[in-house]
Amino acid sequence: MRRRIVFAFFVALALLVPGAVRALSPAPVITLVGDAAMTVDAAFAFEDPGATARDSSGQDLTDRITVEGEVIPYLVGEYVLTYAVADEHGIKAQAQRTVTVVPVALPQVVQPPKKTIYLTFDDGPGPSTEKLLDILKQYDVKATFFVVGNQGRKELIRRAYEEGHSIGVHSYTHRFEEIYVDEAAFFADFLATEAVILEQTGQYTPLFRFPGGSGNTVSCGNRGLMTRLTGIMEDMGYRYFDWNVNSLDANRMDLTSLDIFNVIRNRITANGDGFSIVLQHDTKSNSVFAVEDLIRWGLENGYTFLPLTITSPTVHAALNN
Ligand SMILES: [Zn+2]
Repeated sequence: MRRRIVFAFFVALALLVPGAVRALSPAPVITLVGDAAMTVDAAFAFEDPGATARDSSGQDLTDRITVEGEVIPYLVGEYVLTYAVADEHGIKAQAQRTVTVVPVALPQVVQPPKKTIYLTFDDGPGPSTEKLLDILKQYDVKATFFVVGNQGRKELIRRAYEEGHSIGVHSYTHRFEEIYVDEAAFFADFLATEAVILEQTGQYTPLFRFPGGSGNTVSCGNRGLMTRLTGIMEDMGYRYFDWNVNSLDANRMDLTSLDIFNVIRNRITANGDGFSIVLQHDTKSNSVFAVEDLIRWGLENGYTFLPLTITSPTVHAALNN
């Protein structure tokens, strides 16, 4: 008798107060796919493994799950994702996941031999790249090419790679006003270039050079962008290289090949026993024609020519933005 009264009481309560149903029915269950605490390397993207949900009768509620919170995959830090679901009675459940984005550890720099010269060529492949590759091959000197993805003659990237040169990302469009709008624009340009390199070499490259160098002021429309990008790219495991020997081949249109050779030679000499990262452009024929003299002079004077790698010492310009 007493049980019947209790039962009647609850039926009445359920009919009168919809909230009582909630109190009586078990909540749905959310099950995280993957770990509740995830640690991931800083990267361009993060894929949330998601969660599944069922109500107390076993019905699948996965499609109704909403997720609050966002992981910024390239920014080192701790993020919380909250998954929530409600069943047909409005009974709610939630679960949380912590995602910790950590920097990728870059390998230690290995000091090169004294008087090492890293020849680097930006903006190609260009009309003079084939000639340049022939010269380098003749002297068995390896260099580094920071390539532009939307140039023609992409197959020269493959040739350079197959002949032992290092390939790095420079840009896809090299249009400063597009690349340096914000992080997303920079990443899009970077990834498009990386895709071209992957297609030509079968390898991802950890090497890159910012268009205009990391010390550029062309990015100033977005305050602090270079300060952020330089940190972010290193956190993602890339190594960027500026230069300590500017050939001036892109700054001064009036220079002959001999002038360019002299500029480079004088600046390398000024570095003493230290290493030199030389900036040239294989889109400039007068610069390419200076390379043979440069190699001959270097070899006669005890210099070692090496391609850049992830363990090479780097030069970073002072940041201006
Ligand atoms: Zn450039």
